[in-house]
Amino acid sequence: MRHLHTDLEQVLVSQEAIQGRVSELALQISSDYQEAERLLVIGVLKGAFIFAADLTRQLSIPHVVDFMALTSYGRSTSSGEVRIVMDLREPIENEHVLLVEDIVDSGQTMRYLDRLLKDRNPASVRTCVMVKKHGDRLKLPIDYVGFDIADVWVVGYGLDYADRHRTLPYIAELKPEVYRKLV
Ligand code: 5GP
Ligand code: MG
Repeated sequence: MRHLHTDLEQVLVSQEAIQGRVSELALQISSDYQEAERLLVIGVLKGAFIFAADLTRQLSIPHVVDFMALTSYGRSTSSGEVRIVMDLREPIENEHVLLVEDIVDSGQTMRYLDRLLKDRNPASVRTCVMVKKHGDRLKLPIDYVGFDIADVWVVGYGLDYADRHRTLPYIAELKPEVYRKLV
């Protein structure tokens, strides 16, 4: 294994595994939306920007991309609060929407966004996340999941800790002592 940053416990998902899985998801999504006129992919900032970029560049169906930004959680754990800081630029009425998120922890953020978007009368809404934690309390049905992981704090591939480690090419577990220090 390469030399790891001292904040990191271990690599959970390698760069190669991520790339392979993103290709599989893009293939599946392209096949599922074969009949749709176009797909509107909505990435949730900041965390999903890398995943959304990699995924959409492998879609073989007509698609457009937009982003929403939500308030951050604070440094690490869930505050339970979700608030939009940047909304979509266009209405989504009659669009087929694919909501792309970095991670589902409790499921609260995804449930909030799913409801919010459905209220705007799109043709359909499906959800896609790179990683889902085993402890997702709300047990939301997610349409496309990259990887199921343990309930640890992860960084990399868009995911941060206090805005650090976001651009690592792999997904790694943060050392619990780093995490605890700042909670
Ligand atoms: P939920 O609403 O599902 O509890 O939490 C979802 C949000 O919490 C994610 O969009 C992400 O911003 C943040 N989050 C939850 N777990 C992690 C994690 O392990 N690492 C990082 N970087 N963010 C996380
Ligand atoms: Mg997020």
